[in-house]
Amino acid sequence: MIYYLDDVKKLYNLPFTSLVYYAQEVHQQVQVPNTVQLNMLQSIKTGACSEDCAYCPQSARHSSCKPEPLMATEKIVEAARRAKAAGAGRFCMGAAWRRPTDGPQFDSVLETVRQVKALGLQVCCTLGILTLDQAKRLKEAGCDIYNHNLDTSREYYPKIITTRTYDDRLETIRNVREAGMGLCCGGILGMGETIDDRLKLLCELANMETPPESIPINALIPCPGTPLEGREPVDIFEFVRIIAVARIIVPKAIIRISAGRANMSEEAQALCFCAGANSIFLGERLLTRENSGIDKDYLLLQKLGLKPLDPLEHKRKMSGCKGDGSCGHCTCGGEHHHEHGENAVPAEPVPAEDVSALDPELVKGHEAEMDENGTWGRACNGEHHGH
Ligand code: SF4
Repeated sequence: MIYYLDDVKKLYNLPFTSLVYYAQEVHQQVQVPNTVQLNMLQSIKTGACSEDCAYCPQSARHSSCKPEPLMATEKIVEAARRAKAAGAGRFCMGAAWRRPTDGPQFDSVLETVRQVKALGLQVCCTLGILTLDQAKRLKEAGCDIYNHNLDTSREYYPKIITTRTYDDRLETIRNVREAGMGLCCGGILGMGETIDDRLKLLCELANMETPPESIPINALIPCPGTPLEGREPVDIFEFVRIIAVARIIVPKAIIRISAGRANMSEEAQALCFCAGANSIFLGERLLTRENSGIDKDYLLLQKLGLKPLDPLEHKRKMSGCKGDGSCGHCTCGGEHHHEHGENAVPAEPVPAEDVSALDPELVKGHEAEMDENGTWGRACNGEHHGH
């Protein structure tokens, strides 16, 4: 289905309560209801960027933040460990580069990705423009998802960035897809763009051959020293409407309330969740800016009865698995009970002599998965169900 601006505008202009109701209806059906993906974002190289993004304090042209070189792998991995301990399921690494340079710099990022992945976290990177070769190497190292925002509409883009084009962005996105990585791609509201610009961005995302798996919606933080300093904050109802439209036209995407959340009231954030947002960044800092505190975030989730999103549960839902083997993603043939979330047990190979002690029906479904060494349960790799 192709989305056109006029149709999406009709949706956007529905009475607020109807729009939020429809968005929540889609959310309940397609996403894992009442859950929120928890991410942690680490700036691994800060400032001195050669690009001129008008909203960004890390651009060398605005020079409003202190540059820091690429962090050592050990330090980043330590931050990833802390993120995991704080409950994050995804660790995102951002570097203020136009593009990463092949050689020791990129090799260091690859090694970091390997080590963070080994902690059992989903890994996301945002490093600027990527060649196809770099995208493939990142994927091989274990990077699950790449963030590359389109920011706004094609028409408004040159008013915000002049050092690269919309098509440059789309080329990197194609490379990311060709390499087999997931895509995180969204925009920023409140940069002086019109409602149409915001909706055109959503159409651009929804009309991609494969729409993004994650859509971050940012509210501009008008940073001192940047050309957008002093901008009025985006109206919260306009923000919520954009989230709702995104939920309806890109139903399978995780939608993140990203930058600017620290300035939102609890009630405003709750409205975003009602409209279909299901992802936030945890942590005190978001790259160079303040973020909501972790304790405050958990308290809010608790008040709203929202739970952290289990990535496996989300994967199951997105693949259409009904827990009965009918989706074809599970090799057990649906002959045993599927459990996900906190009840799911990672697949430890079970010694052959122990198989007799298991439920015969359960064993039946896994006979084909026993290998020549007599170990059992490898085929599903624990990614899909518990035993
Ligand atoms: S948004 Fe990224 S590319 Fe643009 S100036 Fe900031 S760090 Fe550089």
